[in-house]
Amino acid sequence: MKDNQNITLQGQALQDLIEAVRPKPDAEKEALQQEKIENRKNIAQLAYSELKAREAERLACTHRRARDGSTRVVYVEGSHYLICQKCQCRIRPESDKHLPADVYNTRMFTELWAQASNQGQSGIVY
Ligand SMILES: [Zn+2]
Repeated sequence: MKDNQNITLQGQALQDLIEAVRPKPDAEKEALQQEKIENRKNIAQLAYSELKAREAERLACTHRRARDGSTRVVYVEGSHYLICQKCQCRIRPESDKHLPADVYNTRMFTELWAQASNQGQSGIVY
């Protein structure tokens, strides 16, 4: 912008600009800072409760359909784990504890894997 150009602001736009550049008294700054902290705290608490709710859903999920006991898991080839289509839980055998999963349970993995294979729910490759 050149020095000889003028900007004309009126009404609310001018008030907003004045408010934005006006030095804030310490108490007001502190209140704003406190409000930001509270907002961050609320967002963190919400994320934490969502995480806990998802964890509770995974713990409660049988990874089977109530109507006929068929499994909801799909075997993921290549990565060698099962994923539940309801709770999105990843299940691996205990020998794969070095790999990311939500549940490490060899017996559950073997049973669900066999059931998924019988139901034709395998073959997803990521
Ligand atoms: Zn599940």
